[in-house]
Amino acid sequence: MSKREEHTVFEKEVKEFLEENLPKHLARKIEFGESVSREELTLWTSTLDKKGWVAPHWPLEFGGTDWNLQKRHIFDVVCRKYHAPPLSGFGFNMVGPAIIKYGTDRQRNYFLPQIRSGELWFCQGYSEPGAGSDLANLKMSAQRSGDSYVLNGSKIWTSGAEDADWIFCLVRTDNESQLQKGISFVLVDLNTYGISIKPLFAFNRKRLWNQVFFDSVVVPIEQRLGEENKGWTVAKSLLGDERLMVSRVAENKRVLGVLRKNIARMKDRSVLLEEAIKKSVTQIEIALLALEHTSLRFLQTADKGNNVGAEVSLLKILGSQLIQRQDELIFQSIDHLAVPASSSESQEAVPRWANAVASGTYHHRGYTIAGGSTEIQRNIIAKQILGL
Ligand SMILES: Cc1cc2nc3c(=O)[nH]c(=O)nc-3n(C[C@H](O)[C@H](O)[C@H](O)COP(=O)(O)OP(=O)(O)OC[C@H]3O[C@@H](n4cnc5c(N)ncnc54)[C@H](O)[C@@H]3O)c2cc1C
Repeated sequence: MSKREEHTVFEKEVKEFLEENLPKHLARKIEFGESVSREELTLWTSTLDKKGWVAPHWPLEFGGTDWNLQKRHIFDVVCRKYHAPPLSGFGFNMVGPAIIKYGTDRQRNYFLPQIRSGELWFCQGYSEPGAGSDLANLKMSAQRSGDSYVLNGSKIWTSGAEDADWIFCLVRTDNESQLQKGISFVLVDLNTYGISIKPLFAFNRKRLWNQVFFDSVVVPIEQRLGEENKGWTVAKSLLGDERLMVSRVAENKRVLGVLRKNIARMKDRSVLLEEAIKKSVTQIEIALLALEHTSLRFLQTADKGNNVGAEVSLLKILGSQLIQRQDELIFQSIDHLAVPASSSESQEAVPRWANAVASGTYHHRGYTIAGGSTEIQRNIIAKQILGL
């Protein structure tokens, strides 16, 4: 079987699985940008776990798969197309792989099965007031006291801390060394005495982030991941393969599907607007195709065991810009769909679409900043590719 045929068979298998196992009401919620409860997400996570597909990028021995990056891309695209809820990236994409690489057997045995089954949720404690793009400037201190560290300071912009059980944190264990060299990586149970969580709301009053305060929080040294003062190495490794998945092609394709549905609903309302939007959609489709092919080119390079350099920064910039352009078009289409319509289908759908538009747009705006802002990506391209 050729690679292409193999991929087609695989795509069909994923589709069949989703048709049989993804709860329809859950997919509808994702389609319309509505919140999914922790219980619903945990159930979906464990369904994938039972199939062996919950952590495709983990090694087989830890419950992953042997798929290459191209297969993972197909899986992502099909899942997003069917509006399957994305799983918590903090556990599956960030700390999970780091535990596999740097964890002790005890840490692996404790955390990995619980991440896979969806029972244990992590959040990410990197950013601090005063340390975002310049992360190495972080100040949260971890002072040795016997067999423990005592943590003091705070983390900010912590997404999902309100639902999480544990947080992985970068902390300063040495003030004397160069900035990056005095950092360690610790795993902290959010129920530990001395931790308090303050919600931070976005302008639409949605709780998007938190500030997590640590007031003399005692954390056993055995909860450190990797060596003391080598946390920067662990943090960098979290990027790993995930660096290559930043183009958000799968999510862009899903949003394109939503946009197309809206255009179909616009028929008989405004022919002029429909035509104008269709033209923009065509331009987006071309740009998305180019992004997908560029992304696949990098994935193939990595699958062959070759290094992919700073070029992936391009993917992050383009992927986030593209999805934001799509959001603008959905906004335009929703304006027209909001006019009372005669068909009952439209009347039912409009409030739901409005929700989808709002939550999608606000969420996608964050892509410009989260995980390394566009300006920082441009700096990387300027320095490492253009040699400026
Ligand atoms: C939706 C969302 C979710 C997030 N979730 C988390 C999370 O769960 N955990 C976590 O730890 N963090 C999280 N963050 C924080 C995110 O990582 C930081 O916001 C990001 O690293 C930027 O840091 P900052 O906000 O301190 O901005 P700053 O670093 O202060 O930057 C402010 C502006 O200056 C620009 N800038 C900074 N330095 C340079 C430079 N050298 N050259 C050119 N321009 C520059 C930046 O691009 C930005 O526009 C999240 C952010 C968002 C938006």
